This record gives sequence, structure tokens and C-alpha cells, in this order.
Amino acid sequence: GNLSPDNEALVERRARVLGPAYRLMYETPLHLVRGDGVWLYDDTGRAFLDAYNNVTSIGHCHPRVVEAIRAQVGVLATNTRYLHTAILDYAERLVATFPADLSQVMFACTGSEANDLALRIAKARTGGTGIIVTENAYHGITESVAAFSPSLGPSVDLGPHVRTVPAPDRYHMGDADVGVAFQASVEAAIADLRRHGIRPAVLIVDSLFTSDGVLAGPTGFLRGAAEAIRAAGGLFIADEVQPGFGRTGEAMWGFERHGVVPDMVTLGKPMGNGQPISAVVMRPEIVADFGRNARYFNTFGGNAVSCAAAAAVLDAIEAEGLQENALRTGRHLLERVQAVSADDPGVGDVRGVGLFMAVEFVADRRTRAPDRARASRVVNAMRERGVLISVSGKHHNSLKIRPPLVFDRGNADLFAEVLEASLQATA
Ligand code: PMP
Repeated sequence: GNLSPDNEALVERRARVLGPAYRLMYETPLHLVRGDGVWLYDDTGRAFLDAYNNVTSIGHCHPRVVEAIRAQVGVLATNTRYLHTAILDYAERLVATFPADLSQVMFACTGSEANDLALRIAKARTGGTGIIVTENAYHGITESVAAFSPSLGPSVDLGPHVRTVPAPDRYHMGDADVGVAFQASVEAAIADLRRHGIRPAVLIVDSLFTSDGVLAGPTGFLRGAAEAIRAAGGLFIADEVQPGFGRTGEAMWGFERHGVVPDMVTLGKPMGNGQPISAVVMRPEIVADFGRNARYFNTFGGNAVSCAAAAAVLDAIEAEGLQENALRTGRHLLERVQAVSADDPGVGDVRGVGLFMAVEFVADRRTRAPDRARASRVVNAMRERGVLISVSGKHHNSLKIRPPLVFDRGNADLFAEVLEASLQATA
């Protein structure tokens, strides 16, 4: 499709007034005016099936969240310098969804801030500075966090205290035991940090490796690596910004699927279904050193309005059985995606869990060489046909499929039909 003259004008306005580092998605950018549940509507009134936005994880403009925000914003919108029950009620409910050891929480506004805070806490606790992440990890945008977000590419220098390890990628590891290999890589990174006089502070991973290509299994593969970093005096941090809040269907939190209890967990995106709220959840003894010496005031972090929105998100997940739906509808969607792509020689692997999955495109099923161009063509072909997704992975060659947790069977069937047509159109 071609951009309308009105939308051409918006692209030009953006270029004039917004800083140049932003990127629009899709060859024909979308001009959105409204969202409702799994649907997004453009300026012509056309409906798009949203299978990508995970901030609005329980659906666009969810009535419970809209109502909770409306009710709170008209009463009081203050910060953590006052006594207020909204933050306490929410904090207690939130930590109750974690293993008992993880019983304290601090609030911020973005995932980047949560990871930045987690790193400060870890440095205070361990006396170390070394950071281990996966090869194409993304953890955020602040100066310190961008320095351990290799997916930002060569425009951002990794810190000298940062080491990357290959992600636990079953498809590209052949018969090797993924957990054993991942642990060995982390141990090698620890040794390399030490050789350079750097004491390890953290291993931080996205529990579903969503920017490394969405790596869901086998479950348990994080255990050895978590033990390795702890044995070296460091902490294990699970970044749950992507897999958290029931998306995997199998558990509320992605790390639970691997039978590990992290020292800290960072949360963001779906937490307020669009309200900026994020958090670090941790064991109290981890944060005690930081708390003795530092003060932490995050102006908007944990404000009453965001806490009200976040509480409504937990209400909706429980009342509407959204974690169970992620499991059930996710299984159906994965089966349908596997079925419609099985005969396409460019599809190397289909994988995922719950409502988060990937389709990896290869130039050749034997060498498994990446085919980035095909993945991009499929994303744009689906957009033309009214379904929204994007890509993941170091080579940008995997479809990243991440529908809202309110996706139903009919939505999944429509998704599969459009994927099938788009695969055929781009073959
Ligand atoms: N961690 C992960 C795994 C993320 O995907 C993101 C955002 N894409 C972040 C952290 C950073 O979150 P934010 O954009 O809210 O700063």
C-alpha cells in the first residue's frame, strides 16, 4: 500500500519536529487513532489485528484499567513521600505472586529504570561491576543499561565491564544440552572478567530471550547459569519485562518455568497496560546495603494513578483467567502457525510458549543460514493484510508474535490464515 498524502505530511512533520533517532514500523507506516481489545484502528477506520503490542497486554483500552485510572486521577496523584494505601495494597498483591523469598519491591516508570536500579543494588551488594548478558539482549536505554544491551548494535559501545554469551538457542545448538552449554558460556565469561580484574556483579537475562529470537525451552535451562554466577559472588537477575504477567501461560513469571528463584526480578511494559510503571522485586537482604547508603526518590515511580492501573491489570488477569487463556490459545496458535508453515522451505523453526512465539526464516534448512529479507517481507505482507507483528533475533530473521492475552481462538485462526497467505505471497 501507499501512504496517503495526509500521512506523508505526518511523516514530514515528525522529521521536522522530533529528534532523528525514532523509527517507524512497516514499509507503509501506520497512522493509528484508536484501540479496543485485540484491535487497532487506523485513520481510515480500518481494523488491524494486533499480535505485537505487549504493553497493552490485557488488550487496548481495557475497561477495568480505564475506569481505575479515571477514578484515581480525579482524587489524588502523589508520590512515595506520603503515606498512601494504593502503593501498599498493590505492592503486597504483587509480591504475593512471587516466591516467598522475593518479598520487597521498589517502583520506577520504565523497564530501563528498573534495570538501572537493579544494577545499582547489585553493585552495592556484591562490590562487583561485571555484567553478563546474552549476545542480542535488550535491557534498556539509559547510559548504564544501553552499555549492556548489545541488540542496540554498533552505535552503542558495550562497557568494558560487560561480557556477552551466546543465547541458549536449541535450534542452532544441534544436540548439545542447552542448559549445560549456557552454564559453560557463563562460566567462561566469569573467568574472562576475572582475568581483567573485574569482579562479577550480575548475570541478567530476559527469561524468554525475546530479543535473542524467543527461546522458550527446554524448561530448566537457566538453573546451571544462575548457580554459576552465584558461586562467583554475583547475582542472578531475571528481566521479566517481556515474559512477565502471565504471558507464557505456564506461569505468572518466565523464570518459574526454569525452576530458579532469581535474586532480583525487573518488571515493566505490561504492568500498567499503558500507564508507565515498572519495578524491581527482590530478596530484602539483597537491597539492605543499598538502602543503608542511598536514597531513591523516583518522582513518578509508584504514583497512585499508576498503582491503580497496575492493580486493575492484576484484577483482570485473575478475573478473566488470562494466564490460562495464554496457555490454551497459545497452544492453539502455535499449532496453527506450525501447520501453515510446515511446507514452506524457508521456515526453519517455529517455537514459543503461551502467547509469545517466533517463526525463524532460513535461506537453507540444512545450514540454517538466516534469511532476514524474507522475515521482513512477511511482516509487511501481514501488515498489508491487516495483522500486526514484527521481528526478533540477532539476524532479524524470526517473526516475533506476541498477541494480547485476550486473544481468542477466532483471532488465532484469523492470524494463521493471514500468515499462510503472506507466506505464499512472499515465497
Ligand atoms: N527489558 C526488556 C527485556 C525489554 O524488552 C525492554 C523494552 N523493550 C526493556 C527492558 C526496557 O523497557 P523500557 O522501554 O520501558 O525502558
